[in-house]
Amino acid sequence: IYGPQRKNSRGVNLNIRSHYQPLMDKMAGFMDKTYRAKPLLAVAVADDAAQTHEVTCPFDRNQRVGSVQWTTQEQAAQAVDAAWAAFPRWEATPVAERAAIIRRLGDLMEEHMAELMTLCSREGGKLLTDGVDEIKEAVDFCRYYAMRAEELFAEPTALPGPTGESNELMLGGKGVFAAISPWNFPVAIFCGQVVAAAVAGNTVLAKPAEQTSIVAHRVIELLHEAGMPRDVVQLLPGDGPTVGSVLSGDPRITGVVFTGGTDTAQIINRALAAREGAPLPTLIAETGGMNAMIVDSTALPEQVVADVIQSAFQSAGQRCSALRVLYLQDDVADRVIEILEGAMAELRVGDPRDLGTDVGPVIDEDARRGLMAHIETLKGEGRLLAETRLDPAHTAHGTFVAPAAFQIDGIEALEREQFGPILHIVRYKASELDRVIESINGRGYGLTFGVHSRNESFAEAIAQKIRVGNVYVNRNIIGAVVGVQPFGGQGLSGTGPKAGGPHYLLRFATEKTLTINT
Ligand code: NAD
Repeated sequence: IYGPQRKNSRGVNLNIRSHYQPLMDKMAGFMDKTYRAKPLLAVAVADDAAQTHEVTCPFDRNQRVGSVQWTTQEQAAQAVDAAWAAFPRWEATPVAERAAIIRRLGDLMEEHMAELMTLCSREGGKLLTDGVDEIKEAVDFCRYYAMRAEELFAEPTALPGPTGESNELMLGGKGVFAAISPWNFPVAIFCGQVVAAAVAGNTVLAKPAEQTSIVAHRVIELLHEAGMPRDVVQLLPGDGPTVGSVLSGDPRITGVVFTGGTDTAQIINRALAAREGAPLPTLIAETGGMNAMIVDSTALPEQVVADVIQSAFQSAGQRCSALRVLYLQDDVADRVIEILEGAMAELRVGDPRDLGTDVGPVIDEDARRGLMAHIETLKGEGRLLAETRLDPAHTAHGTFVAPAAFQIDGIEALEREQFGPILHIVRYKASELDRVIESINGRGYGLTFGVHSRNESFAEAIAQKIRVGNVYVNRNIIGAVVGVQPFGGQGLSGTGPKAGGPHYLLRFATEKTLTINT
């Protein structure tokens, strides 16, 4: 199933080498290019060596991608001034014009797919296959939000009322939005936040993750090329707390759209709430998960393992939707673990640009150190079930973590989300199912969840009881499709509304009614 002879979920061989070769030929031109990114603000920013940070590849720290000039607090404050001033003009711009710019960005990202994918690999450590999905998702966000904006914002909605009155509901922008994004989907999530806020009539201050500012810089360059005015969407690369505290402390910020860790969302929430005399803000936060899957005795072990491998280890487990805790009913547990062990032994960890690689690096040394500490603790307790071998020839110079599976007693044993290729396995008896569901719900996160069972009513009953945003039955639990599987969680996993869903843009909008006595 794994390696160069990849098959899709229906067992069709994708022959990925011939499929990807044309793209790889184009990517070659960007493999050695060095980049210089800096804040893209309404006014041009002068070079500042003191604020410049070097960027190297997660799979080989000897390879340089370029440098990024971080935004100072003074520049961040000036960016808020410009965004505030530009808001009335941008909100008055017809929605068809706003949507056209966003659609052009989608087209431009498709044209520049090879370069953006190369940057996703070189800066973010993404596999090529993940890179393709990533850019296509970003393009989908552009087209989907442009379409939804025209449906929602173009005309007021006439509402029924008493005779002699007309009533209309109109949607407009809210003001200035800060869009704060993570490194794990450096194009898709970054772009999705920015275009949603902008197409709804808001001006936007985009703060990409420190680790992936170069690819974000390229996306905003393309957005400006697509016709977006430079004071409507500005880019503020930089340190989270430094830039973030200016944004979430400024009373003119009407909303924050954030994706990242639950702790960071709580810091932002507190900063917004502490602003004296500021209007009540909107916080849209999509955060971490502790995602589980329940496998009962009727499930097909081979299919379970294929889906578990993808869910837990694709993108080196660095997806918010990734599987962290696999609950196996006692009767099938031994068989599933045996096949899993064999499949994990086959996984190849290494350079994400090589099509034979299954698992790339983790994002940086801090991430690697944190994951290794967790692995060492569980190994020390004798809980290791299966592990992939790291080949130093492919992993010596980067930040790699070998996929590993451990037996634990329950989800409550995990203190925090482990954002990497670590799977935890819990055995349960059929009689304990209600307790299992209670403990998953009781942990407080609620992002993704999977069930594997050939008993339809069993799967449906669990899907009803589990409190999460996205439930998947008899498949993997990652890779939500824009407009088809709107994505986002509840509880500690986020506020909603779901990204890529029909209600997303409404949270970026004000509603106004107009009642006329005719
Ligand atoms: P993070 O919370 O460390 O950083 C996210 C962003 O917040 C970055 O741009 C960072 O610079 C910024 N930031 C940090 N401190 C800040 C502060 N005090 N004020 C304002 N901004 C600040 O998260 P990460 O490590 O980049 O991403 C991984 C996390 O993201 C995981 O927890 C993952 O589950 C979550 N995630 C969630 C979703 C989802 O849709 N629910 C999607 C992707 C990632």
